[in-house]
Amino acid sequence: MLTPVVAAPHPPWTLLFDEHRCVGCGQCVGSCPTNALNGLRFAGGQPKIVVTWEDCTHCLLCLPWCPTAAFDKQRTPA
Ligand code: SF4
Ligand code: SF4
Repeated sequence: MLTPVVAAPHPPWTLLFDEHRCVGCGQCVGSCPTNALNGLRFAGGQPKIVVTWEDCTHCLLCLPWCPTAAFDKQRTPA
């Protein structure tokens, strides 16, 4: 018997992350309820937060915490 496929609901907004703006300060880490912001990677000697996108629910709670505006949002396409 076939199992009905139910499309997962998608959030109205999608989080965007501009790694070039990230200075690895870590101020966003505690704002994420799913611990999607964890760890640092180094790019050109500069620390960058690691975003685990599989754990991100696009709640946008992290967005106002970034002093360098590394986060942004866009409307999720319907
Ligand atoms: S949008 Fe929400 S779930 Fe995604 S990284 Fe930011 S705080 Fe975490
Ligand atoms: S608050 Fe902004 S600059 Fe700091 S680690 Fe998070 S994304 Fe990077």
